[in-house]
Amino acid sequence: MTEQNKLLEIKNLTIDYTTSDGTVHAVRGLNLELGRGETLGFVGETGAGKTTTALGIMGIIPNPPGKIISGEIFYEGEDLLKKSQKEMRKVRGKKIAMIFQDPMTSLDPVITVGDQISEMIRLHEHLSKKEAWERAEEMLEVVGIRCDRAKDYPHQFSGGMKQRVGIAIALVCNPELIIADEPTTALDVTIQAQVLELMKELKVKFNTSMILITHDLGIVAEICDKVAIMYAGNVVECADKRSLYLNPLHPYTNGLFQSIPDIDRDQEELNTIQGLVPDPTNLPTGCPFHPRCPKAMACCIEKEPQYVEVEPGHQVKCFLYSQEEQKQNG
Ligand code: SF4
Repeated sequence: MTEQNKLLEIKNLTIDYTTSDGTVHAVRGLNLELGRGETLGFVGETGAGKTTTALGIMGIIPNPPGKIISGEIFYEGEDLLKKSQKEMRKVRGKKIAMIFQDPMTSLDPVITVGDQISEMIRLHEHLSKKEAWERAEEMLEVVGIRCDRAKDYPHQFSGGMKQRVGIAIALVCNPELIIADEPTTALDVTIQAQVLELMKELKVKFNTSMILITHDLGIVAEICDKVAIMYAGNVVECADKRSLYLNPLHPYTNGLFQSIPDIDRDQEELNTIQGLVPDPTNLPTGCPFHPRCPKAMACCIEKEPQYVEVEPGHQVKCFLYSQEEQKQNG
């Protein structure tokens, strides 16, 4: 990816949470790149560190208990981690916006939806109250809600409509990057499809880049250009969608694909990945996937693999693809 085309670049990001049970290593030396106009699917089980990474980009890690231990998050070439809270308030909503998982809790129940959208506009643009209100009404229409509903409160909307309001708030200042954190998980299946369709349409209309956090590889196949598979606080495989779906390499990625139910196959039981997600306060030595990995080798217990670029843009963090390790293992 050329420097000009790069919108976001995360280097060696490490984030911990201090808890009474010990230090949770939520994100461990994560590297990631996103180009302008790209949609990246960020996939992994609960606790893999996806949301913590997103909160880190937004500058809203709750501190304490959370702390960014090291790393850099370059957005258009500037390190967001070097910005003050005041500077970050100008970035949030205007340059990077977030759509949260649960629209029931992300909206303020005592403020009309029109006022909540207007508030975001007035935070970033010098518009009068009336102008901001008119823009909020237009934005509601864009997300498929009648503008006269701007005077209503969140409890007067269904779950799907509330998420549309969340999308309106995120998009109203035309940010370059949207981070959508499991935006359809809290919705009914039929509503999920409508909200995803809307997000797809608006992404093109507003020409935004997107990070879509999900554990659903079906959603990724629908919307994303690129996929990062996350496990135990790190990206273990990253590639463009086609390359990852045609040629998944990491044993964890393969496990995720094999656990998708296939209606064409007569299966008595669904395949699962054996074992459990590791305790983030006490991660296994070496490759953190080794206790669950059907292909684990002796070296996997001793040291953590480095990234290997198997084909242009397709990287994997696994000893199976490291030539040096293969030679030593015979
Ligand atoms: Fe499995 Fe070893 Fe690869 Fe880890 S490094 S995924 S344990 S083969």
